[in-house]
Amino acid sequence: MKKTLKNNIIIAIIYVGVLLAAISIGAISFLGVYNTTIKSALYNERLSQMEEVTNQLFENIDNTMSNKWNILETYENEFKNIVKDKENTKANGEKINIADLKDIIIRQEQAGNFKDKKASLIIVDYDGSKYDNTGAHGYFLPEYKKIDAMEKPGDKLCFTAKTKQEDDTYMYFIHRLETPIEVSFSDEGIQYYCIRQDMSMIRPYFYCKAYNSMNEIYVCGEKNGEMIYASDNASFLAGSNVYSALRNSLGDNLDPILKDLEEHGTVYSSITLPDKNKKNTEVFYSFFKMKNCDWSLLFLVPSEYVAVNTLSLVNATITIFITFAVAMIILISVVVIILTTIQKRREIKVEKENSLKLETINNELNQSNACLETALASAEDAFKIAQDATKAKSEFLANMSHDIRTPMNAIIGMTTLLESNKQDPKKVQEYIDKIRMSSTTLLGIINDVLDMSKIESGKTVLNVEEFNIEEVINRLESVFRPNMEHKKQTFNVFVDDIDNKWVIGDSMRVQQILMNLLSNATKYTPESGTISLEVLKLPSTQTKYEKLMFRVKDNGIGMSKEYQAVIFETFSREERTVTNKIQGTGLGMAIVKSLVDLMGGTIELTSELSKGSTFEVVLEFKVVDDVKATLNNRDVFKNEIFDISHLNLLCAEDNEINAEILKELLDQREVNCTICENGQVAVDTFMKSKEHEYDAILMDVQMPVMNGYEATKAIRNLDRPDAKEIPIIAMTANAFSEDIQMSIQSGMNAHISKPIDMNLVAKTLIEVLNKNSDADNN
Ligand code: ADP
Repeated sequence: MKKTLKNNIIIAIIYVGVLLAAISIGAISFLGVYNTTIKSALYNERLSQMEEVTNQLFENIDNTMSNKWNILETYENEFKNIVKDKENTKANGEKINIADLKDIIIRQEQAGNFKDKKASLIIVDYDGSKYDNTGAHGYFLPEYKKIDAMEKPGDKLCFTAKTKQEDDTYMYFIHRLETPIEVSFSDEGIQYYCIRQDMSMIRPYFYCKAYNSMNEIYVCGEKNGEMIYASDNASFLAGSNVYSALRNSLGDNLDPILKDLEEHGTVYSSITLPDKNKKNTEVFYSFFKMKNCDWSLLFLVPSEYVAVNTLSLVNATITIFITFAVAMIILISVVVIILTTIQKRREIKVEKENSLKLETINNELNQSNACLETALASAEDAFKIAQDATKAKSEFLANMSHDIRTPMNAIIGMTTLLESNKQDPKKVQEYIDKIRMSSTTLLGIINDVLDMSKIESGKTVLNVEEFNIEEVINRLESVFRPNMEHKKQTFNVFVDDIDNKWVIGDSMRVQQILMNLLSNATKYTPESGTISLEVLKLPSTQTKYEKLMFRVKDNGIGMSKEYQAVIFETFSREERTVTNKIQGTGLGMAIVKSLVDLMGGTIELTSELSKGSTFEVVLEFKVVDDVKATLNNRDVFKNEIFDISHLNLLCAEDNEINAEILKELLDQREVNCTICENGQVAVDTFMKSKEHEYDAILMDVQMPVMNGYEATKAIRNLDRPDAKEIPIIAMTANAFSEDIQMSIQSGMNAHISKPIDMNLVAKTLIEVLNKNSDADNN
């Protein structure tokens, strides 16, 4: 996030940088344009403005001067007439004298109101002597030299000069007469007619109030630049010669100006001149050659006063323009930054969404990967399990092959021996005993294998019933004691003082657990060893429950630590020379552990090589509430003699040998039986029989043509009274509890597992027949 912000700032800075560069280029271009176009336009505008101002001024001055000359001409003509008139009054062509001239001058001054105009009339003769209203007055000095400059008759001269006496400045307008006027007091006669005017009366014409009166006006002789007049406030040009003063600052640059003046009569431009503080100042000037006299007028004004309003207007416009431009640029920059930020945010948002999508896809991919890995691991596990299973199967088959062959070998061997020694009853009995023993072992192995496979497939169901703990222990004692005594082993049985001996549970499975443990104890304990079975009461966690510990202890060969860790695995046997000699499948302990687990109990083992082993099984049973009722129920069969003689049975059995054995056994009990080779034959035989001809049916399950379940259903569905009642007992090698359930569901009354235990057959027959007669009585 921080990184993105940093990037944003960098991008914004780049944008602003580019903008500033653009602004700078714009500003430089603008200044260029301003310098070339606006500045020159402004300069021209200032010049033309000044031209307008000075044109007017110069015209006025020129007109005034022209006027003065006109007046002078009028007065001169009048003077001439008066002189003539005066001469006419004189006899003999006498010319006027000085007194006459004085009179005439006074008369003219009075008539022209010269006094008010601060003017006076001066007449100058050829020698330069001057005459005014006071009479003769010496030489017309210091202006005499100027008069000399008027070489031709009709020449005009105008100049300013101070009088010696008054220190006032006067302007002189002098005209050289076309023809001198003859007088009595001068040989050459009167040559010049001159009007002298006080400058105070002329000065207003040279005054210009434009540019805040900050202008200076100089009047100079057109040819030599003699300074004839300068404004009172004149500060740029000093001395008596305008050209010399200008040349001091401009040098040769003055020449083209003068040339222009000569050619065009006017020059407008700007120059740099030092002001009274010697500071170089840009000055606008206007040079004008007067038409009515040989004067030039020079108008100077510091540039800062020229077209001030235009200048300030332009400056204001530029300021406004620049301000506006800067404001616009700032605005545009801000807008650009905002837009960039928005755009960037959008991009970041899109980026975020994309990265989120990518993350989701990644996660999904990871999940898929994980699933694939799990699947792979599962496949590997499955493969390993399959491999293990194959290995286990092979091991199992090898074990089974060995374990089954051993007793089978004994049975076959003994049978052969039996055949060859059938005349010797002692040997016959010995072989029969050994055949029975091997058969029992074989059955045990088969039962173990079936049990284990059932437990492993999760199909084992506990057959819960009320039973007496002590009875189970007694039964075990009675089974094992003879065997142990035979091995000279000491068998100690101890049962704690248990409050509730009657409990609810699967007594057969409890018995199976203890039998396995006891048979191992005796198997793996050498002769003269000691084996003990203890039943100890433990405090129960629940009321009405009995928690018991069954401890089976021996001082036999014991087990290694390594083997103890795997003892409960199927087909595991400790590979030792001692154990190898002892027969076993390695299923007993696995069955024990599975059954204990199934009952929610625990099993613990402590063992030491050559010292012995102790197994402790802890189980919890629900206590039987009504022990009396249980005892009463049991009493029914307590002393029952299972007499089944004279019964007439229908038997379905497809295996000929089994059928023969069955028939023989039943014969021994004086039971009549009809054997049918399959279910269908059994159904047909029953159908053909008279009502209640048969007392019960013993039904094999796995048979060709029609199996036992189907045959039972068919019989039960027959339309005859005894079809529903006749007891049908399953007698099958299918020994699992679900087989029992299926038998009951198909309509059978009981289930007996093969191999046939005639006592059990008789007991079951009596039970079902008694139940039937009870039902009939009710
Ligand atoms: P088996 O049929 O081999 O006895 P079991 O599952 O009952 O199979 O026992 C597995 C193995 O555990 C035996 O082979 C034996 O090595 C060992 N074992 C079981 N009980 C004892 C015992 N009480 N003393 C010594 N070893 C025993």
